[in-house]
Amino acid sequence: MIFSVTTMGTASAMPISDRNPSAQMLSAGGRLFLIDCGEGTQQQMRRCHFSFVKIEAIFISHIHGDHLFGLFGLLNSMAMYGRVAPLDIYGPPALGSVLNFYNSFFGSDDLFELRFHKLEGKEPELIHTSKHLTVTAFPLNHKIECYGFRFDETVTQRHREANPAYVAKSYAYCSDTAPFPELARWVKGVSCLYHEATYPMEMADKAEHRFHSTSQQAARCALEAGAGRLIIGHYSSRITDIDALVEECRAIFPDTVAASDCDTFDI
Ligand SMILES: [Zn+2]
Ligand SMILES: [Zn+2]
Repeated sequence: MIFSVTTMGTASAMPISDRNPSAQMLSAGGRLFLIDCGEGTQQQMRRCHFSFVKIEAIFISHIHGDHLFGLFGLLNSMAMYGRVAPLDIYGPPALGSVLNFYNSFFGSDDLFELRFHKLEGKEPELIHTSKHLTVTAFPLNHKIECYGFRFDETVTQRHREANPAYVAKSYAYCSDTAPFPELARWVKGVSCLYHEATYPMEMADKAEHRFHSTSQQAARCALEAGAGRLIIGHYSSRITDIDALVEECRAIFPDTVAASDCDTFDI
């Protein structure tokens, strides 16, 4: 089964010319799952050749604009493309108010139903089950209520019988967050971990003050979790040398890659 993730936006709060705010598309068995929806996500979807009508569900980590400002435009375009299938949207309770605002002013012509599911768990919680995967949400350590997501591939009985040694793939998304002890346990053993690395290690004080992570902290989480691979992103607009960030990570966790906009990673 195809199981891949495309990083459509790798900037943090301030977009720059070649980096959009956070948005990722997870592809699993022909279905699409959108993770965060920063400003410009629908244009990025076009650049990365994703269908507007194949999105099964949207997962919003938190109500900071760099993870959310693209949602209204995307919903509007989905309606114009004639989407009729209901759309599941997961996010913190405040997202309900944001969606109510959208519905009251812009949603009247939408043909499809928006099904909002609020996240409130203090522990990892299974939130979405699909044909090819399950999705678990877990709280992160940010300035406001924020959630990460773990996607675990579902292997059919028939596939398991034919390939007894097959290891199911998994992907975890952790943005935005300062480090905290439980996180590595919650993403234990993922094939691929995306962890924000907003700042280099020399800016650790800024990271702490803003509830973000440094390169080193992202790498330590990957190491403790026993992740197969680490992808970093959500770079501060002040960072120009991304290679230096990667090198800081690799000193702790060698299998680190830096995401750029529209990169696709097989999981
Ligand atoms: Zn952010
Ligand atoms: Zn944030």
